[in-house]
Amino acid sequence: MERSSSSLWRKIRARYNLVGNVCENCSTAYFPPRIVCRKCGRKSKMEEKRFNGDGEIFSFTKIRVPPDTFKDEAPYFIGIIKLKEGPMVEGHIIDNGVEPEIGGKVRAQFRKMYVEGDEGLIYYHYKFEPL
Ligand SMILES: [Zn+2]
Repeated sequence: MERSSSSLWRKIRARYNLVGNVCENCSTAYFPPRIVCRKCGRKSKMEEKRFNGDGEIFSFTKIRVPPDTFKDEAPYFIGIIKLKEGPMVEGHIIDNGVEPEIGGKVRAQFRKMYVEGDEGLIYYHYKFEPL
């Protein structure tokens, strides 16, 4: 119980704040956070880090047939973003009239993702806005 609620909390924090972590031993940054550094194993020394959300598009694709949750948004772009601070993050790319391109600069924004159920629970998530 304790464990599942803290991992849920970690997920929520990561979702709202782009919180990952960085290994102080080798400076490799991770998002989502990892318990152990992939390079250092037992020698890892993980510290929480909040990424500022600046990055560039590493790859992207247009979604024409979306999952039900996003059916009203299609077509839309999703991409793999390489954050300035290191990690690769997958996310929606905001349609602001700027056509996404490989290497294009983006910045993370928090946006409404979808509304669920009769009570209209609103989920927020980061999306990337082309600059
Ligand atoms: Zn390391």
